Amino acid sequence: MKLSRRTFLGTSAAVAGTLAAPAVLADGHGKPRVVVVGGGAGGATAARYIAKDSKGEIDVTLIEPTRTYYTCFFSNLYLGGFKEVSDIGHTYGALAASGVNVVHDWAVGVDRDAKTVALAGGASVRYDKLILSPGIDFVEGAVEGWDISAQNAMPHAYKAGSQSELLKAQLEAMPEGGTFAMVAPPNPFRCPPGPYERISMVAHFLKNNNPTAKIIVADPKPKFSKMALFQEGWANHYEGMVDWIGEDFGGGNVSVDPAAMTVTIDGEETKVDVCNVIPAMKAGRIAELAGVTDGNWAPVNAADMSSKADPDIHVLGDAAAQGDMPKSGFAANSQAKVCANAVRGALTGSKVFPAKFSNTCWSLIAANDGVKVGATYEATEEKIAKVDGFISEVGESSDVRKATYEESEGWYTGITTDMLG
Ligand SMILES: Cc1cc2nc3c(=O)[nH]c(=O)nc-3n(C[C@H](O)[C@H](O)[C@H](O)COP(=O)(O)OP(=O)(O)OC[C@H]3O[C@@H](n4cnc5c(N)ncnc54)[C@H](O)[C@@H]3O)c2cc1C
Repeated sequence: MKLSRRTFLGTSAAVAGTLAAPAVLADGHGKPRVVVVGGGAGGATAARYIAKDSKGEIDVTLIEPTRTYYTCFFSNLYLGGFKEVSDIGHTYGALAASGVNVVHDWAVGVDRDAKTVALAGGASVRYDKLILSPGIDFVEGAVEGWDISAQNAMPHAYKAGSQSELLKAQLEAMPEGGTFAMVAPPNPFRCPPGPYERISMVAHFLKNNNPTAKIIVADPKPKFSKMALFQEGWANHYEGMVDWIGEDFGGGNVSVDPAAMTVTIDGEETKVDVCNVIPAMKAGRIAELAGVTDGNWAPVNAADMSSKADPDIHVLGDAAAQGDMPKSGFAANSQAKVCANAVRGALTGSKVFPAKFSNTCWSLIAANDGVKVGATYEATEEKIAKVDGFISEVGESSDVRKATYEESEGWYTGITTDMLG
């Protein structure tokens, strides 16, 4: 083919752009470097995809303090007796073997001018692109009488692992006919159906082990995700056991006393045996330390999950203020793939595909009684915007509900492999 002058110039400019990009970004220190903070649904997926797809062209370092990641997804099923704690724990060996430099430490600071991340152990790691996926922390003072020092008396179990095991042990130790209380969080929070799936799983456990026990939920919201489906399920499976007190009845006017094990809802004090306090949430603290938060969350551009405060920092998952997606593991994993593709493109000149996102959240109400809600999304200038969605219906047949539960089992295996290899 004979090249015209115009084609020749266009081709050389594109090739020059492709070749120049990594050299410029690597800034004379060899391969471009990506540092990922947080080895959960967002961070582990991003690290894995960048390492895998760049085939050694990019150095990827993952900073994650824990050696075993316990998924919050399916942690309620562990409370209900459908899973063992070992079923929800995953290590980082396969990720390391696939080429990600896994550093078990805390990120304690970000110097955006020097492009370095400081670690609690004293090291400092350089980056060309930084990806933050630290999940959530709790808003101090959100529930009167509770702070993080009370999490042993009144667990949140909203970061899985030892907190999940503690809540399960407390559930098992409840006296016959005792009371389990939950203080539910205000919007927006990690996993919108999570508290209500938990109520279902606690009710399932109590029905089988302590059938005269009661459950009280103090909720600051007038409604919640999949509300009609959960309420139908509670009436069908756990009649008379669950007392949900929403905003209209003072569910948001709550204080707790962890020493006395009391919960006061709209002026009425109740002595309880177990109290699961799920406080209001905010982005994991490192996002705030990096200076990329505005209020409780970190605003991002929908096309590539880059921070609105810094184009070389991307924020994924629960920590991001991104638009319409719920704060879920599925969503974090979906955002991570869009981000990985964009980061690789920026560092190596590889093709960047238009951003598309999806999410499904399954919940188990009782044995083989699964329900789901989901949607697809696209990137607009303003936000990640919902395109269309679906939700289970009330009154579905037991076959449909069983199939929905089985689908969630397949998803769990799929996403944990997609994250960690
Ligand atoms: C009870 C419950 C049930 C749920 N069920 C579902 C479900 O069925 N489906 C679903 O899709 N989602 C579910 N979720 C939500 C899901 O767990 C989260 O949305 C998802 O984990 C968010 O991913 P992430 O990467 O933002 O954060 P995480 O997965 O929490 O990962 C954050 C990681 O960052 C690390 N980290 C934090 N700070 C630092 C730091 N300074 N330095 C280094 N590392 C740091 C943490 O150790 C952690 O490993 C559920 C959540 C709960 C609580």
